[in-house]
Amino acid sequence: MTEIYDVTIIGGGPAGLYAAFYAGLRNMKTKIIEFQSELGGKVRLFPEKKIWDIGGQPPITGDAFIKQLIEQGLTFHPTVHVETKVERIVDQLDGTFHIETNKGTHMSRSVIVAVGGGIIQPQKLQVAGVPKEDVQNMHYVVREFEQFRDQVVLISGGGNTAVDWANELHGIAKEIHVVYRGENLSAHEAQVEQVMKHATVHTQTHITQVHANENTNCIENVTIEQAAGEKIISVDHMIVSHGFDLDQTLQYDVSIPLERIDHAIASTATGKTDMPGIFVAGDIAKYEGKVNLLVGCFQDAVNAVNGAKLHIEPTASHVAMVSSHNDRVQKRMAVEARKNEKSLV
Ligand SMILES: Cc1cc2nc3c(=O)[nH]c(=O)nc-3n(C[C@H](O)[C@H](O)[C@H](O)COP(=O)(O)OP(=O)(O)OC[C@H]3O[C@@H](n4cnc5c(N)ncnc54)[C@H](O)[C@@H]3O)c2cc1C
Repeated sequence: MTEIYDVTIIGGGPAGLYAAFYAGLRNMKTKIIEFQSELGGKVRLFPEKKIWDIGGQPPITGDAFIKQLIEQGLTFHPTVHVETKVERIVDQLDGTFHIETNKGTHMSRSVIVAVGGGIIQPQKLQVAGVPKEDVQNMHYVVREFEQFRDQVVLISGGGNTAVDWANELHGIAKEIHVVYRGENLSAHEAQVEQVMKHATVHTQTHITQVHANENTNCIENVTIEQAAGEKIISVDHMIVSHGFDLDQTLQYDVSIPLERIDHAIASTATGKTDMPGIFVAGDIAKYEGKVNLLVGCFQDAVNAVNGAKLHIEPTASHVAMVSSHNDRVQKRMAVEARKNEKSLV
């Protein structure tokens, strides 16, 4: 028999992870289900970018922020399923929801939907010669700039992300080529102005083929096509920034009425949806005043968890004790203190 959880959080991004932490504070049996192989949500798309706008947090890279977020989110040991896609949610009409995934069904007394804009995957380069397997020097997300030091880098794409990467690599890479099919780069004007100064920008240009070395499994040359004809560029690395595919196929049974506003789910400012027992948090939530930023995720998560707690336990207090007065935090602090004492002996 599948175990029934108090709350199941769909999506292991910032909203889902903070909800898991807060549900732990509220002593709820908690599960997170995440499609990707790693937690962190779309912050994983900008690991090197500095985030400046989180209250009380000095500027921090996406990567470092995710590490902290995961550590906090797993404080109370929620059950975590990664590489699991939630496909459908069904109201069992007996106080539980069935959460159907590609790997089986989970049961929960309440659900927090924290799926952001859906499952995001970078759009793959589709031209002749791209090996089926992942190639070491072809990147869809830039995780670390140092690997490009003194290297020739070709960036395919002309939007904000492509141009940001080209600018970030200035002074690190030996040579930067930006290849874009449009007439003008479509990034912010100031960034475009900057990139034009230090990179070789090939507009109205298509990549027609990449040439990988079978032994090293690395891309060595890229064929581009311009009005003037074909040209081959030798590269050490290639970065593809063609935007993202979004999978928003998560379904809700007909017994679950949820009002949609574009891709988002209409809710109250406290994360309640039209379906008792189902709450929303983070970018998927839409209400007047909703802030689609990390800070917005945290307040949403607290409200959604409090709603879920009251749904399954109507006499519970409306909010958790502040963390310094919270039983579970106190116990946790006592454990940490004992560990520190032992390590000092
Ligand atoms: C390029 C970029 C830069 C940004 N910069 C900043 C910034 O500087 N400051 C700031 O505050 N905010 C920034 N943001 C916004 C911030 O990243 C989002 O507000 C935040 O990530 C939203 O968190 P979330 O948990 O709601 O959704 P997400 O981060 O999107 O996480 C949702 C998770 O749900 C999973 N999921 C979706 N569907 C399913 C399913 N069916 N089954 C299982 N799992 C599923 C996804 O795989 C994903 O991991 C930026 C966003 C982008 C794209």
